Amino acid sequence: MIDLRSDTVTKPSAAMRQAMANAEVGDDVLDGDPTVLRLERRVAELLGKDRGLFFPTGTMANQAALWLLGERGTEVYCHEDSHIVNWEIAGTAGLIGLQPRLVGGAPVLEPEALREKLRPASPHAPRASLVCAENTHNGAGGMVTPLAKLQAIRAVADEAGLPLHLDGARLWNASVATGTSLAEFGACAETVMLSFSKGLGAPVGAVLVGSERVMAKAWETRKRFGGGMRQSGVLAAAALCGLEHNLPRLQADHRRAKALADALSAIADLRVVAPDTNIVMVDLPARHTAADVVARAKAAGVQVSAWNASRIRAVLHGDIDDAMAADATARLSEVLH
Ligand SMILES: *Cc1c(COP(=O)(O)O)cnc(C)c1O
Repeated sequence: MIDLRSDTVTKPSAAMRQAMANAEVGDDVLDGDPTVLRLERRVAELLGKDRGLFFPTGTMANQAALWLLGERGTEVYCHEDSHIVNWEIAGTAGLIGLQPRLVGGAPVLEPEALREKLRPASPHAPRASLVCAENTHNGAGGMVTPLAKLQAIRAVADEAGLPLHLDGARLWNASVATGTSLAEFGACAETVMLSFSKGLGAPVGAVLVGSERVMAKAWETRKRFGGGMRQSGVLAAAALCGLEHNLPRLQADHRRAKALADALSAIADLRVVAPDTNIVMVDLPARHTAADVVARAKAAGVQVSAWNASRIRAVLHGDIDDAMAADATARLSEVLH
């Protein structure tokens, strides 16, 4: 079975398991875990921020950022297809007390669309406290928001006096695809979340980075959310291994995604979103439903996911080599003809 449902399905490699077994550890809640501290410093440095904090999941790190930057009883501007809106079980409402104000009109957050959504100050209307962007944008097929556009989003947020949180679960991919450094992207946002359990291949984990001022209460917030961990250096060692070995090979995922997209584009009536990175979205013609394609692909030995009733998603990742990608392409082409 070739599993293209997500880049989260990667299993820790032998080298990663070895790094985990050998990790130097301490009690992170009591007096610090040396491997966790090393990871936090490394990611903060890569993003050009003062501090980083290791979280068990990207979802918890996103929610912590909303808590740190947002103000209860106000609005947060988010793209309508963003992870924070669609895949975090309404944590904005249930945990933080923020009302999402959805921005749409394009596959990713656009500066002009954001500006149009800003409410004029009024004693009768909600105030806003925060803007969130996502790069790469999962719901748009791993689409990159290039640096200039992210800077323009930041400028609109600045005009409105709002901080920006960047959900950069796959910012690694955006950086590799564009050559823009993580620090250049990082300079646009108050906080950035980066995930280790996607293309970097670690079992779990994310880091939230920001300035000393913004991160001052991050530790307390994580603890309140139940995220105070102990010998978490075992997990941080996997993340460090992912940074060292898997970050440099993300370009291969992008190349394989493009080859898959090109092959499927040749099939009549399929609309394939040209991938910027490692995610291929395919909009199906009326003769197919996503559920049906997922079932038939599985029977043919390839797992993909149904993104909605008429769209499937295939994701390239570190456990898929060239031969497997070519094999999956052939099988999927047959199913989709
Ligand atoms: C996966 C993902 C997250 C959440 O990460 P988890 O570690 O799975 O909780 C957040 N945002 C985006 C865009 C993601 O793809």
